[in-house]
Order: sequence, then structure tokens, then C-alpha cells
Amino acid sequence: MGYSKSVYERADRILSERRLKAERDAERKQSAFYASNPRAREIEEELTHTFTNIARATLKGDHNRLLEIKKKNQELQKELSKVYSEAGVSQDDLLPKYTCKACSDRGNVDGIACDCYINLIKQIACDDLNRRSPLSLSDFDSFDLSYYPEDCRQKMSNIFGYCRLYAESFSGDSDSLIMTGGTGLGKTHLALAIANEVIKKGKGVIYTSAPDMVAALEALQFSRGIRDDEITPQLLSDCDLLIIDDLGTEFLTSFSKGAVYNVFNSRITRGKPTVISTNLSLAELETNYSDRFVSRVTGYCRRLHFEGSDIRILKKMRAMKG
Ligand SMILES: [Zn+2]
Repeated sequence: MGYSKSVYERADRILSERRLKAERDAERKQSAFYASNPRAREIEEELTHTFTNIARATLKGDHNRLLEIKKKNQELQKELSKVYSEAGVSQDDLLPKYTCKACSDRGNVDGIACDCYINLIKQIACDDLNRRSPLSLSDFDSFDLSYYPEDCRQKMSNIFGYCRLYAESFSGDSDSLIMTGGTGLGKTHLALAIANEVIKKGKGVIYTSAPDMVAALEALQFSRGIRDDEITPQLLSDCDLLIIDDLGTEFLTSFSKGAVYNVFNSRITRGKPTVISTNLSLAELETNYSDRFVSRVTGYCRRLHFEGSDIRILKKMRAMKG
């Protein structure tokens, strides 16, 4: 089981609430309709006997009776359509409007989990996790290009535009990205802005720093059961977008290097996008991680190189000037 028990329970509850609501709404519409059109109910009841009547007549070999039933049936159908069209509703209007038509909000089709259920689980698990991260702090509108020196402002404006477009047009097969450049150049800000925008599209997004991710995976090795707000290998591999911030600031051990590689590799294998931010240069990445990791990163990620001076220092200076 890749997620905590409570994630499954909440998904089940949401589905059954959706189903009940659709069915109650339909019942309400039906009672209102039949109250003002009692003839519709009478006809529908008569029509339910058609099958039995046909079976009886067939057994008796009574062809005249069969023709009579068929004629009566057609007349009833015609009268019923008239009642509906005069009331300005269709028979479909009175059926439950399920959120998922494929499974009627049951979560499975012939015992196989429906996509709506899988997506719901992913979303609940991601929400649990994101409740702990600084997601709400950054968006594209609060990104200020005026902090960048003139000689790199155009380049940063292009990166900003690219990230915004990336988030707005995000799909399951979007590119993976690696954001490089020194500290305080806005990488985390844009990574969070991407996360926020993609979450708004209803996708399952995990934003985590590399140290948090490694620590969680390490802790999992020694624990039993999964907490609700815990990063799991399953979620890291399943989520629609994984953002690993500050790669290279985690404590480097053979476990951490292997974990980072496995997470990234499992996503590449499944064609799922990952956004990585790091203060390390490509040469430093090569020194710190395995060749196969770096070659996968450079082979599969579009690189965005951030330039400028540490914005956090500039912001403080501006604030001091008042
Ligand atoms: Zn479904």
C-alpha cells in the first residue's frame, strides 16, 4: 500500500458523498417532476409490465396479443415523450449527475480502480504534504524583475516568462527542468510559483527540499506504517509534478545519493516531469553525484540558469533605505 490508510478512507468518503449527492439531487428532481406530471409515472409503470406481457404472449404463441402489446407500447412511449417535452425536461435530466460518468462515483469499474479514484488519492496525499510547505508564499505576480542588474534582466525576464508559460500550459508530459545559479536569485520563488499554478489546475504536486525528501525516505526505512503528511516513494513517483528544491544541500551519503537518483529515475522512466533547483554548478553536480545521475539530469531536463545578485540582500537594502 503506497499511501496511508486515512488517505484511502478520505477518498472513499469523498466518492460516496459525491454519489449520494448526485442521487439525492436526482430523487428531488424526480419527485418534483412526478408531482406535477403524475401521468408520466403511470405510463412508466405500465411500460415496466411490457416485458412480462411479451413473455406470456410468446409462451402461449398468441401472435395477435403480441401485436397488440407492441402497438400499446408504442402509444405509451409516444405519450410519455409528449408529457416530458411539454414539461420541458428530458428523461436524462432526471438521472443522477455523477462527477465521474465512467464509474458513477463508485471508484471502480468491474473491480478495477477508476482513474477518478486514483487521481483523488494522489490529490489528497499531495494536499496533506503541501500543508506543511511554504507554497502559498510565492506566485508569479510577486516576482520582481527590477531586483536584477540591467545586464541580466532580459535573460531573467525570459526565464520568468518561460516558467509562467510552463506552469500555465502544464500537462503530464511537460519537460523536466533544472534551475541552476547562486543563492537568492529567485529559483525557489519561481519553483513555488510553478507549484501553485499547477495545483490550481487540479494536479497532484509535491514541493519538497532535497534535505526533507532524503530525511523522510531515510526515516521510512526504519518505520512501520505511513503517516498522512509523509513523503513516500510511491507519492514521489506518482505525483503529476515533483519539485525538488535546493538539491545539494542535503547531507551527502551513499543512501542520499541513491535515493535522489532512484526518485528522479523512476519519474523519468514513467515520463513524469520533475523540477530541480540547485545552487551547484554542473561541474559540482558531477563531483557530488554519480555520473549516471548527472547524465540523466542533463539529458532529460531543460536547464534554466539564473543570474544576478542575491535578491534577499538587495531587498534588505531597499527596505533600509525606506
Ligand atoms: Zn470514476
